[in-house]
Amino acid sequence: MPGKPKFYVTTPIYYTNGLPHIGHTYTTIVADVIRRYKRMRGYEVVMTTGTDEHGVNVERAAKKAGIPESEFVARMADAWRSLWDELGLTADEFVRTTDLRHVRTVQWLFRLCRENGYVYKGHYTGQYCIYDNAFVTDAKPGDNCPDCGRPLETVTEENYFFKLSAFQKPLLDFYKKNPGFIQPESRRNEIVSFVEGGLKDLSITRTTIRWGIPVPGEEPHVFYVWFDALTAYLSAVDGPEYEKRGMWPADLHLVGKDIIRFHTVYWPAFLMAAMLPVPKQVWAHGWFLMDAAKMSKSKGNVILPRPIANLLGIDALRYFLLREVVFGQDGNFSYDALVTRYNSDLANGLGNLASRTAALIEKTFGGKIPKPGERKPQDEALAQETQAAIGEVLENYENMSFARALEAIWSAIASADKYLTTEQPWALGNSEQEQSRRATILWTTAELLRIVTVLAHPVLPASTAKIWTLLGLPHSVAAVELDGLRWGQLVPGKQLGKAQTLFPRVEKDEAIERIEAMANEERNPAPAAKPAASATPAAAAAAPQAAPEKIGIEDFAKVEMRVGQIKTAERIVGADKLLKLTVDIGTEIRQICAGIAQYYEPEKLIGRKVAVVVNLAPRKLRGVESNGMVIAAAVGPEGRPVLAGFPDEDVEIGARLK
Ligand SMILES: [Zn+2]
Repeated sequence: MPGKPKFYVTTPIYYTNGLPHIGHTYTTIVADVIRRYKRMRGYEVVMTTGTDEHGVNVERAAKKAGIPESEFVARMADAWRSLWDELGLTADEFVRTTDLRHVRTVQWLFRLCRENGYVYKGHYTGQYCIYDNAFVTDAKPGDNCPDCGRPLETVTEENYFFKLSAFQKPLLDFYKKNPGFIQPESRRNEIVSFVEGGLKDLSITRTTIRWGIPVPGEEPHVFYVWFDALTAYLSAVDGPEYEKRGMWPADLHLVGKDIIRFHTVYWPAFLMAAMLPVPKQVWAHGWFLMDAAKMSKSKGNVILPRPIANLLGIDALRYFLLREVVFGQDGNFSYDALVTRYNSDLANGLGNLASRTAALIEKTFGGKIPKPGERKPQDEALAQETQAAIGEVLENYENMSFARALEAIWSAIASADKYLTTEQPWALGNSEQEQSRRATILWTTAELLRIVTVLAHPVLPASTAKIWTLLGLPHSVAAVELDGLRWGQLVPGKQLGKAQTLFPRVEKDEAIERIEAMANEERNPAPAAKPAASATPAAAAAAPQAAPEKIGIEDFAKVEMRVGQIKTAERIVGADKLLKLTVDIGTEIRQICAGIAQYYEPEKLIGRKVAVVVNLAPRKLRGVESNGMVIAAAVGPEGRPVLAGFPDEDVEIGARLK
């Protein structure tokens, strides 16, 4: 019996100088969707992700944290891996560039390239900061160091070079023979003209960096950036023994558009030089923009995945990212659009159809899938439409047109809603004829629900598994073969499963407030940190050891609380719970947002003295800057806020609380 066809998909090997944000999460989600989809089409799939752990930035960060590099990267890798696990995005292979299997593969690839005459020793001259021990790429003689501001020096060091210039023609020939290699099309043209412009040889080792993979027999040379990082795709599927595993060449490398050149020029050239098979396709996706600005750590507008997944479920984030943007293009990210889509498409759309259908079958057929009677033209029409949707959805998944695949699925859901509204099975009486009509309507709706559940599974794995259970269907939805999916396979007489909570509706303002509050907490973990287990990975990675359960007086002393007096208070449009306050803290007047709007009238607060944490990092709540925190007790099951105050004595404004 021939084995299953194989499919190998990768995300980039992410650099460990920070923690995953929505951009990394998007790429990893897409890889996971493709993996699930291909499995449902009968493929044996391997999905690889990992962490890029070498280089001077890691050296510096480890030094700053006061721990060895190996320990620093181990913590970062743990933080990345555990976030993926938490989000249900566990890869089949998680490769770290400090893994022994990777070190072996890089050294082996280098040997092959060298034996084939594509590596030579030369000199690299660049602008170097002797304080940071690093070359500054793109700097000119006379420039200052972008990190420390000191003058750079022109330094020449011995390097190994890769003869990239020899691959101009082979690469152009390869692109011509494999027109699908670079996707989307617009990126392909960009790369072709870059290569046509001529290729310079590439320095692939350094002697000024310590934290890297050694070049065997050539110490102190270590491999530099791309020769190390790109090779991880091959290391993950057994490197030198890749033939035994049978997963190389990769079918698909998913990358952000900023790194497409390295994946479509350097990487195939390295492999050609070693006479190894070249990957079949590289797909570059766009950025998510916040209010049309690129997300960046320095702008402080980075979106974190965990708070969204915590509140709405990871499926909601998966759905939104794939539905909202054409894959390959830039897209806008806003919490407003996210929650709107969640309510309209998931809670009111799929979720409502599922619970409504199940409730009707429960009520009128004792929870057993009814046997359909004679079919009317409108039943036929819905069946045909759904059958056609199967083909359309599969074609769009195949072409990475995820937004269109989801559109087709949701159009079937809308048709089912309309069908129920028109046919009104609840209004039918109890005559045999009417009962038979009701059976046909409910069977038809349940069959449509079964089909959209299967089709949506790659994007919504957790919630479709619940709908599968709700419908009492056998095995798991992941085990359904997409190529065998047809209208009419729903067997009557089967008992429905347990009721499931799918997508509880949320109130938009409140949901956004809660997501933003969780994100703020993750970005600026409280100074007197919780135990490492519940702290964010950032804090866990940076803290040399786990914080103890109880804090010392010196930790408490870090929190600076003072008596403040409220000068003005007003409601914030679009945020039911927040008040915008200005508070006199003795030395200055601060703007502070407080989540007390449902319990305190703004007018009655003016003049009131409150306790304020004054050294909290400023943060934004619903777009309004909050510079400090007003202390309140959380009372009762709803956590009703009660402001802390000073009823006994007229305390001085600005007095410190100890
Ligand atoms: Zn410097």
